[in-house]
Amino acid sequence: MSSAGQEPDPTPEARALLASAGALVRELVEEGVSEFPRHPGTEASAASAANPSRTPAPVPTSETVSGGSPEVVPWADDIRPTLDQVQTHLGECTRCELCRGRQSIVFGDGNPDADLMFIGEGPGEQEDRRGLPFVGRAGELLTQMIEKGIGIPRSEVYICNIVKCRPPRNRNPLPPEVSACRPFLDGQIRAVAPRVIVTLGKPAASLLLDREVAITRLRGQWQEYQGIPLMPTLHPAYVLRQYTPENRRAVWQDLKAAFERSRG
Ligand code: URA
Repeated sequence: MSSAGQEPDPTPEARALLASAGALVRELVEEGVSEFPRHPGTEASAASAANPSRTPAPVPTSETVSGGSPEVVPWADDIRPTLDQVQTHLGECTRCELCRGRQSIVFGDGNPDADLMFIGEGPGEQEDRRGLPFVGRAGELLTQMIEKGIGIPRSEVYICNIVKCRPPRNRNPLPPEVSACRPFLDGQIRAVAPRVIVTLGKPAASLLLDREVAITRLRGQWQEYQGIPLMPTLHPAYVLRQYTPENRRAVWQDLKAAFERSRG
């Protein structure tokens, strides 16, 4: 409380954090989660975050953290970059706070000329450790759905995330973090120029469609992003949590429709 007996106005960062927390709670409610058990590892992970064993990335400065004017990238307008050019421009990124806790930048993985492109939310622990997207439990399920379900090698598609660095304790990425990474996601889409995009989960669909979506209602319905057909489907981590025949069937149908459309 201030001396006048009033709470000070929250900072923009605090407002963004509150908005993100609100969005997370709404998403969990939408996904049927009604209880929030205490996480036994919270104290330990907070302690290790305070004393990481690896050298932290340089601290972003007011010039490098996004929030100012949008970044000018060489692939603006109609220029089609290569993935290497996008990755080189990303460099050892310190544009947002996520650089502080990462082990790796998880840029993307797969065929640079893929017909089918998958976009998730952000790297988890395994992805951060290995520098590759979707290699943890959710990734195993996604890989199985691609290889056993669709029947093509994972290396034939391209997979990436909205943000390239792991958010602490796997929280949702905050708006400034998403904005800082957005030019690189757009660069990847421009570079790969897929025939079909599949968004995995609510955040990726909401970002590309520029509105907050209810993913359990929207999934399976064709959308479009910059002229590219977009199929929103459930995130594999959600399917693992709600491992019902309905959810598995829904994702399978969505992936089959996406694959068929990508074949022209
Ligand atoms: N969840 C994501 O959204 N992306 C990953 O790379 C892994 C898990």
